[in-house]
Amino acid sequence: MLKKNADNLDHSFRYEISAKVGAKSLLKCIQCGVCSSGCTVTEYVDLQPHRVVASCLLGLKEEVLSSNAIWTCSLCHRCTERCPKNVDYSFILALLRNLAVKEGKIPKEYSSTVVTIYNNGYVVPYTGGLKDNIDRRRGKMGLPELVPPDLKEIQFIIEETGLGALAKEKEDDK
Ligand code: SF4
Ligand code: SF4
Repeated sequence: MLKKNADNLDHSFRYEISAKVGAKSLLKCIQCGVCSSGCTVTEYVDLQPHRVVASCLLGLKEEVLSSNAIWTCSLCHRCTERCPKNVDYSFILALLRNLAVKEGKIPKEYSSTVVTIYNNGYVVPYTGGLKDNIDRRRGKMGLPELVPPDLKEIQFIIEETGLGALAKEKEDDK
C-alpha cells in the first residue's frame, strides 16, 4: 500500500492536468461529494470521484494512475452534469486514462482489445465458428454479411495514435 507522506506527493500533478484544454475546472472543486453520490459505478471503484479529484489536487499521482476508478467509469457524464462548480470530471477522467497509458498502466482487458482490433479489425475475431454463428444470427434477422474491414487502414490508425507500440509489445510477449 502506498505510504502517504510528503515524499509521495507530486505537487505539479494538479497543474499537469489542469493545463490541458478543458481541464482547468479541476482547480474549482470544493469537495462537496455530489459527483460521488450520483456516480453510477460508485460501489465498484476503489476511489470515488471526489476522492480522485482530491488526490489529483494533493499530488497523489501514483495512487490515481494506479486506481481502478479511472478505468471502471462508464463515462455517463452524470458527475459532470451535477457538479455545482462545473468540474468536468468525466472529461478529466479521460485525460487520466491517457496519462496512465503513457506510463504503461493499462488494464490487460483494454490492451488485449487493442491487439484484437489490430490483428482482426473487429473487437471480436470474425473468423471460424464464431463467424458462422454471427452470420447465422444476422441471417435470421435479415441482415447482410458483414463487410470485411480494411485491416491496413485500421492498423495505420492504431499506429498513428501511438497504440501500435502497445499492440507490438503484446505480440512480443506471446
Ligand atoms: S461535485 Fe464537483 S465540486 Fe463537488 S466534489 Fe465532485 S468535482 Fe468537486
Ligand atoms: S462519468 Fe464516470 S465517474 Fe462520472 S458519474 Fe458516470 S460513471 Fe461515475
